[in-house]
Order: sequence, then C-alpha cells, then structure tokens
Amino acid sequence: GRQQIHERVCELLDTVELKPASTIASRYPHQLSGGQRQRVAIARALAVDPELILADEPISMLDVSIRMGILNLLARLKEERGISYVYITHDLASARYIGDKTMVMYAGHIVEGGDREDIMSNPAHPYTQLLLSAVPDPRAGLRTQKEIRARGEVPSLINPPPGCLFAPRCPQAIPICRQVTPGATHINPDHWVHCHLFGSGSEEIVQIS
Ligand code: SF4
Repeated sequence: GRQQIHERVCELLDTVELKPASTIASRYPHQLSGGQRQRVAIARALAVDPELILADEPISMLDVSIRMGILNLLARLKEERGISYVYITHDLASARYIGDKTMVMYAGHIVEGGDREDIMSNPAHPYTQLLLSAVPDPRAGLRTQKEIRARGEVPSLINPPPGCLFAPRCPQAIPICRQVTPGATHINPDHWVHCHLFGSGSEEIVQIS
C-alpha cells in the first residue's frame, strides 16, 4: 500500500541521514543537492537489503567538502549492516579510507592486490608506485617529493601487445617484459603482484577474500 511504501522510503532516507525524511521524499531530483542525490542513490541500493554494493566512483562528482560525509556514511553502513563494497575509484586517499583490500588495475587487468596498508606503504608494481607518487604530499614539499614519470600511451586493448601491458610505459622494464606476460607472485601471504621484477610469476592464484 501507498502508506507502507511511504514509511519504507522515509525509513531508508533516515538511514542515509536525509532529514526530515518526509520532506525530502516529496522533492524532485533537481530540488536536491549533489550530495543529497548521492545519499538517495545509496538509499535505493539499501532498499533490497544487499550484502554487497558495487560503488563505482561514488564520490568523484561531489564537492570535496561533502565527500567525507558520504564516505563516513558508507563506513557506518559497513559496520552496522555488515555490507561489503566493491569500491571503484581513481582516488587513492578514499580507497585507503574505506577499503580493507586493495586491487590495482591497469589496462583492464589487476596488476597488484592485497592488504590495503601493505599496498599503500610498500607498493611493488611500478604502476602502483607511479600512482602513489602522483598523490600530492604536503609534508614532502614540491621539490623533495619523489616523482616517477611514465612514458608513452596506454596500449590498445583490442589488439594488446605481447608481454606485460605496462611495458611500453614502465620506467623499470627489462627485456622479458615485452615478451612474456607476468603471472602472480606473492610478496607475502597477503600481497601479490604481476611483475617480472618479483620472480617468475608462476603462481596463478588471484583471490579476493
Ligand atoms: Fe614493468 Fe616489466 Fe614489471 Fe611490467 S613486468 S611492470 S614492464 S618491470
């Protein structure tokens, strides 16, 4: 019935901290701010009591000032409801904030994965190192911050070259990189990488646990 639907909508809006819920429920999308619309999107996802939410760049279009509010909301729902997220982003800081495991992708392939803190503090793959070096660090200062530069372009994904897909841009490439695709090598039980610099890469296990 309409009354039950209204109550359920208000309950969900309350959960994502949109108040007063009954007022928000009567508004059109153009009457809501970007942050409020994002909360509505989260409320819609919660309507089916999910165990897993695929969150693709959930804060990238928002003002910096309201990103933290959305991240805290996602973190609270994770704790309270036991929801897991596949959180897709270009923003390493938010990935570090929200994630337990991190997977780094290049040209459609996962090139490194494992424990979030291990990846952030000891990145193994040259692409991960490059990504992290591009994050501004106010403590380091402009002149002293370590900078790694990539060359070239992302390879064609329709007709990919042989070997490691990052080889045309990799500052550490060695001859085998352009011939053989590296498999997964474990650096420790909870951190693995696809890169010839870390051995044969004979391990095929790539798990998200
Ligand atoms: Fe660079 Fe070679 Fe490692 Fe690929 S396999 S990331 S080209 S060093």
